[in-house]
Order: sequence, then C-alpha cells, then structure tokens
Amino acid sequence: MTHFSDLGLAEPILRAVSSQGYDSPTPIQQQVIPAMLAGKDVLGTAQTGTGKTAAFVLPILHALSTEKTRVSSKGCRALIMAPTRELAMQIVDSVRTYGEGSRISVTLVVGGLKINKQIKAMERGVDIVVATPGRLLDLAQQRAIRFDDVKMVVLDEADHMMDMGFLPQIKKVLVQLPKQRQTALLSATMPTDIRKLADQFLKNPVNVAVSQESKPVERIDQSVRFVPHAQKRDVLTEILKGPKVDSAIVFTRTKRGADRVCRHLEQAGLTAAAIHGNKSQNQRTKALDLFKAKKLTVLVATDIAARGIDIDQVSHVVNYELPNVPESYVHRIGRTARAGESGTAITLCDGEERKLLRDIEKLIGNRLPGNEAGAAEEPINDKESKNFHPSKDGQRRRKPRSGNRAGNSGGHQSPKRPKQRSHAS
Ligand code: AMP
Repeated sequence: MTHFSDLGLAEPILRAVSSQGYDSPTPIQQQVIPAMLAGKDVLGTAQTGTGKTAAFVLPILHALSTEKTRVSSKGCRALIMAPTRELAMQIVDSVRTYGEGSRISVTLVVGGLKINKQIKAMERGVDIVVATPGRLLDLAQQRAIRFDDVKMVVLDEADHMMDMGFLPQIKKVLVQLPKQRQTALLSATMPTDIRKLADQFLKNPVNVAVSQESKPVERIDQSVRFVPHAQKRDVLTEILKGPKVDSAIVFTRTKRGADRVCRHLEQAGLTAAAIHGNKSQNQRTKALDLFKAKKLTVLVATDIAARGIDIDQVSHVVNYELPNVPESYVHRIGRTARAGESGTAITLCDGEERKLLRDIEKLIGNRLPGNEAGAAEEPINDKESKNFHPSKDGQRRRKPRSGNRAGNSGGHQSPKRPKQRSHAS
C-alpha cells in the first residue's frame, strides 16, 4: 500500500494530511501528486469525491513551500480556476487545511462578493489565488492582478466550466500566463472541447484516469422511477420521509423549480433550503452550513449551484427533474457516496423526460435499475392527452409545440447544452 510519506511531500504537509485522518492517498492522488511534483502537466479524468482537490493542492503547497522569494505586488504563484463560488470556497478551505503550518497565503476571487475587498487582498500579492474565471478576468482587466509570477495553474471541473460558458474567459486568462508554467486540467468527463483546450494549453501532459470516463461511482445505489410530473412532489416527499434518509440533495432544472419544491417540502414538515444562482452569497453559504451541520435534512439545488460541493455523508440524491446535459447526471449523483461512503440516487422520470433518460443510460453504458425492461425506449406523455393526436398511420404522435420546460423543441430531440453564462452562479 502506498503511504503519503512515500510521495516526497514536505513534512508540514504530511502532518496536515495525517491530522485529517487520511491513511493513504486515493488513486487519483497516487497518480497526480508524483506527476505534479515532477513538474509535469496533468490531464486528469476524475470523478467527484475521489480526493482530486488534495491531488492538486498538496503538490502546489509543496512547490510553494520551497519558494524563497517574495511574491510581487498584485502577483500570485499558483492559480486555481473553478466553475462555482462554492467549489472555489471549498478549495480555499482545503488549501488552508492542508497548508496549516506551511505559511502559504491564499485568496478567493469570485463573483457575488465585493470586488474591492478582492482587489485589496491582491495588493501585496498572494501565493495561491482560487478564482472563478469571470471575476478573475475582471480583476485582470482592472489591472488588479498580475500573472507574471504564475508557475502553476489548475483548471478544476473543466467540463463544468465549459458548460457554464466560461471557455472564452479561461482562454483569455491562459494566453496571459507565462509560457514556462505547469498546468493541470481536471474534469469529470472529457468532451471534445475540453480535449481541444488541453491540446492547446498543456505540454505533453501525463494522462490520469481514475475510473472509466463518465462512470458514476459504483457504490451508489442508482434507480429510476417513472412518475407523472403531477405526482412527483408527493413521491419526493414519500422518499425523503423514508427511515434511511439522513441527508438528501434534490436536484431541479430551474431556480424557480427549486424554490417551489423547497416550499412544498417545508409544508410537508421537512427541513429544507434551496440554493441557486438567484440566492445571495450569504443565503447560499448559510444554507450550506446548516445542511453540513445536519440542521437541514434536504438541500434543493440547481446543477450550477451544487456542482463540486463536498459534503460528507449525503445519504440520498434525488433527481426531481432530469438534467438536460447527460454528464450532469454523473455529477449530481456524485454528491453522495463520497470518500468511500455508500449512497442512494433516485431519479424521477416523467413521460417527457424519457429521451433525457436514454441519453444518460447511453453515457453511463447501462440501464438504470427500474428501467430494465427499457420502458424509456418509447416516449410517452403523461400530461393531458390533448398533446397527442392520431397520425395517418394510426399511431399517436405528439403535436409540435413551440417549446417546453426543458428548453428543447420536444421530448424527441437531443437535449441542448444550457445557455452560456458569463459568471459563476
Ligand atoms: P474531493 O474529490 O477532492 O472533493 O474529495 C472528496 C472527499 O475525500 C473530501 O471530503 C476529502 O476530505 C476526502 N479525502 C481526500 N483525500 C483523502 C484520502 N487520501 N483519504 C480519505 N479521504 C480523503
């Protein structure tokens, strides 16, 4: 068995890791840490909950702990980009935890918080900046941050940053960085655009994949239930009131949907809070803190708000609505079964979502329990029959509509990527 002490990390880092109670490095850590310590670029496919944060934070701390020179004003030595404020905050927390005793400074640069404080924090220069791409670029454009000293760059959850429309900002930042640097790109899935980004900005990267692409963690007990849309709320309440549900995240597709579901759950006597892009940063942080402290049983979240959130012991994930992008399914259910725990993921699928379910099953390479018979093969409509009318060949076909909840032109067509966004949500 590999031990952390075999990896050649500095003493204070080993002490910090040991005080977290970690016995041995996880598979992603075993591969990424030596590669990064050797100065190599890394292209990593890592599922959520695999220990990927420490995989890049520990070698960065190690490299910076041997730095003798002071970082220049407005400068930074390591830059970590992440898709959401919550994930960025968690990375900052990890840097502080693992960097205890290493005298390394770290600053958070994210949207939704006052920019002036962030500009001020950069004035003296810091060792590590953890940022969402939009706000980072804002700071660069205001000349509040300089990139000349950057030696290490990490793009965390790169596929999610792409889904959020951050690719242009990421590229604008990357072209401003010194050519002599080390770059690590980590992504739960490896779509073509992310591979292209890696080809353009990484030099002979060490490829690391801790498990097959797009495969959810095996410890997750996954299932699907076919439920008409109108009955979803009641089925959800019944699931969440089950005896084994300690702590659950419920995913909706829209922010308003998250609020509606949250209100319903509260009326049904459950303790719940919603997090999404329309909530203030304070509200989001408060909801997360309460959920982590187990003072709330349910967190209702949109994809963007929940990605990358690291909360131990989430017993259940419920997909109240299926995601438009199949990869999001893998990320959603990865909120449970973290760091060796097991977990349950239940998906509620209505008639209009069957196409989305088929896309998910194609991506993960098998049928979900509950759909063994392939019930999802045929699109059906569980709403009013007026949406259907017989065609000339006698078969029922859906009437064309101008749009639906999912933002697609109909349940028979491919899901589209979400609209591009310019800032973290
Ligand atoms: P991450 O994939 O970075 O979000 O990490 C998932 C969880 O695994 C976090 O709660 C970490 O604290 C935990 N973790 C990270 N490295 C290890 C390790 N070597 N052994 C046990 N747990 C770990």
